[in-house]
Amino acid sequence: MSDSAAMASVFRSGLLDGQVALVTGGGTGIGFGIAELLAELGAHVVIASRKPAHLEAALAALTSRGHKASAVSLDVRDPERVTAVVREIATQYGRIDLLVNNAAGNFYAPSATLSPNAWRSVVEIDLFGTFYCSQAVYPIMAAQGGGRIVSTSMTLHYRGWPMMAHATAAKAGVDALTRTLSVEWAPQRIRVNAIAPGPIPTEGVRKAFMPPADSGIPDRFAAAEDRMAEYARTGIPLGRWGAPRDIANMVAFLASPAGDWITGAIFVVDGGEWLAKATT
Ligand code: NAP
Repeated sequence: MSDSAAMASVFRSGLLDGQVALVTGGGTGIGFGIAELLAELGAHVVIASRKPAHLEAALAALTSRGHKASAVSLDVRDPERVTAVVREIATQYGRIDLLVNNAAGNFYAPSATLSPNAWRSVVEIDLFGTFYCSQAVYPIMAAQGGGRIVSTSMTLHYRGWPMMAHATAAKAGVDALTRTLSVEWAPQRIRVNAIAPGPIPTEGVRKAFMPPADSGIPDRFAAAEDRMAEYARTGIPLGRWGAPRDIANMVAFLASPAGDWITGAIFVVDGGEWLAKATT
């Protein structure tokens, strides 16, 4: 059972019945956790990303539990493809109630030698992709009388984060976009918010805690688990790592009628991690 499936839903069943949600990067990690909860609550969820293996496995997991879900191949860096996919979804399912901009790329790299391609790639996925997808759903949401956009940000740009110039710059842009679009599109009743997750041990994050292959440590996986447990004790005030469901719960809240008067907000969901860092 996944971490997220282990955390029972606090929302009433059928809460999102009739809604259509598009989750970019919905095949893995946090995105899959979001897709899973939205589908459990009755939404038809469309997951979109590049790799067929991610999409196929996630779709099989969702549909095998009887959820309404579909998958579409999409690189969010390609604005024409984004527009075409969004139009196809609206034609096929009649509407798009929720867009979750979750797709992202990230890796540690020294800024002094970060290649133009590496810089461009992360900024294009995280920031341009968020803008392209938001712009593409705008006419559909405006025509249907409203909708919700939730983007996945981070907290690392609040203070800056060495070796992550590309991702921190991109996510700072996502925050700015969230605030700007929320005001610009409020007359169309499109609520635009973001969530800044703290550490959620998806594959990339686990790797960051893994000792290097030449470290001589016999069981690098066990060592990574130890380091992570230590970090939960010392670096996260609430004493545990996050789970995809922690983030999914906030998305479901924002997609529900409880999110009706919320726009332009950036919700930090991190067990207190960034504030604790800010004070040490
Ligand atoms: P992840 O598992 O690596 O998810 C990233 C997803 O984005 C993948 O499903 C990937 O699918 C998709 N993607 C990458 N490039 C894409 C592209 N060009 N077009 C479409 N989809 C693309 O990472 P995660 O940890 O769940 O992160 C999810 C979100 O949370 C990200 O926005 C991340 O910045 C944010 N976040 C995570 C943490 C954390 O601790 N995990 C903390 C703060 C913020 P394909 O490879 O199939 O394209």
